[in-house]
Amino acid sequence: ATPAEEKDLVIIGGGVAGYVAAIKAGQEGLKVACIEKRGSLGGTCLNVGCIPSKSLLNNSHLYHTILHDSKSRGIDVGDVKLNLAGMMKAKETSVSGLTKGIEFLFKKNNVEYIKGTGSFADEHTVAVNLVDGGETSVRGKNIIIATGSEATPFPGLTIDEKKVITSTGAIALTEVPKKMVVIGGGIIGLEMGSVWSRLGAEVTVVEFLGQIGGPGMDAEISKATQKILTKQGMKFKLNTKVLSGDTSSAEVALQVEAAKGGKAETLNADVVLVAIGRRPYTAGLGFENIGLEVDNRGRLVIDQEYRTKIPHIRVIGDCTFGPMLAHKAEEEAVAVIEYITKSHGHVNYNAIPSVMYTHPEVAWVGQNEAELKEAGVKYKSGSFPFSANSRAKTNQDSDGLVKFLADAETDRILGVHIVGPNAGEMIAEGTLALEYGASTEDVGRTSHAHPTLAEAFKEAAMATYGKAIHY
Ligand code: FAD
Ligand code: NAD
Repeated sequence: ATPAEEKDLVIIGGGVAGYVAAIKAGQEGLKVACIEKRGSLGGTCLNVGCIPSKSLLNNSHLYHTILHDSKSRGIDVGDVKLNLAGMMKAKETSVSGLTKGIEFLFKKNNVEYIKGTGSFADEHTVAVNLVDGGETSVRGKNIIIATGSEATPFPGLTIDEKKVITSTGAIALTEVPKKMVVIGGGIIGLEMGSVWSRLGAEVTVVEFLGQIGGPGMDAEISKATQKILTKQGMKFKLNTKVLSGDTSSAEVALQVEAAKGGKAETLNADVVLVAIGRRPYTAGLGFENIGLEVDNRGRLVIDQEYRTKIPHIRVIGDCTFGPMLAHKAEEEAVAVIEYITKSHGHVNYNAIPSVMYTHPEVAWVGQNEAELKEAGVKYKSGSFPFSANSRAKTNQDSDGLVKFLADAETDRILGVHIVGPNAGEMIAEGTLALEYGASTEDVGRTSHAHPTLAEAFKEAAMATYGKAIHY
């Protein structure tokens, strides 16, 4: 065999973590190769995650608004019909445009793209099973593992992506189910549940905990969100666990009972969406050849500079610690290249925003009330409802609120929590404020254009150190 080509850096996985690291490495002048097995770049996020789900969220929201909300806006529409195949096509167009865009960026930044499955032959060599057949191998002075994550299965329920689905099936259904049960009221459950609810399915979300939204969502915001989604037609069963499922008939029959024990009941559904979290994906990487191990939750263990115990092998993104978010992966990708080339990098894990793209959106950054209480931090809070914001009212889109949490003594912002129209864009301002150590008074004394939704952000800040004007 010919000796493997030597690169400065080899990256296994072309998801957000891997492709951003590859581009950054190319920009820094490193000789870099990125190995991706799915046949297209962008990973979970671009192919079956962030992007396709947002396409469906946006277009199902438009459909729902036109169908139910036109009259009050003075728009008479004719026969409004769903063209599901067309909606899926729009989704596919956005996905393919963006994934091809990354291939272009690879070329522009001199990144070699190897289409195949990588696995460690030794500490510096990655063997690749090529997608188009055949094998190759590539050597790296440095190697980054960025193999991402996969849906956590529900024990006893076999995923067929038709009747029992993960998010991957939920972005590709060919007809609207009559009844859908979602196991897990986290971000995926609520985003995909609301897509199918808007398109006409009767959606019931079964959540083990006493609140929806998954880890990190503030309890008050979670409650407000649940109320809004209930008004939109979604049903919730909190504090409820799924015991088992029977898929032998046309409908899936789920046995559920109160989490703390109680009477069992059966929920029937055409489609069951399993959305109980994701777990790191590191299968088939040949760790036995190099002596790497994962922790009890499947995560690769790393130090502050993303190094495994084999220092030239580093790990970023969903397959290691931290929130499983694309923008977190992206920050790490830039930082890890800076560690490799300059020995210093920076990610502020306290200022990574979370956004749930339901309508209205839910967004937060920093700590929530429960976390501050547990840490014994003395804090104050202030909030402002969108029902008192002129733009939200004018847009007939005024459900929700903005809430600040700030240090009781210094007024420094500790957390910002929003449910409301455009919360996902608005949280960027909260993130910047947190990153720069702003106080709520800094925000409240900053001019915000009128009439904008962002004025609700300013007034919530004013309500934290003093008083809002319009509420
Ligand atoms: P991945 O994107 O999973 O990429 C890893 C890649 O590595 C994959 O393409 C895989 O094929 C490849 N790979 C694995 N093993 C090998 C191997 N041995 N050889 C070669 N290639 C390999 N996050 C957000 O921030 N915002 C959102 O709106 C959002 N929406 C989401 C919606 C859904 C339905 C899902 C499932 C996730 C969503 N996420 C969102 C999470 C986001 O997708 C992930 O956090 C992000 O993709 C992580 O990037 P990554 O590069 O670490 O992993
Ligand atoms: P999640 O952790 O957000 O939510 C899972 C939910 O399921 C939790 O509320 C949990 O209490 C519940 N649960 C767990 N086991 C259960 C059981 N047996 N029965 C009933 N409920 C159960 O996970 P997810 O929604 O699957 O999302 C996975 C990952 O993907 C998350 O890390 C998320 O950040 C990421 N993601 C992000 C976005 C976004 O940023 N907009 C969108 C989709 C996915």
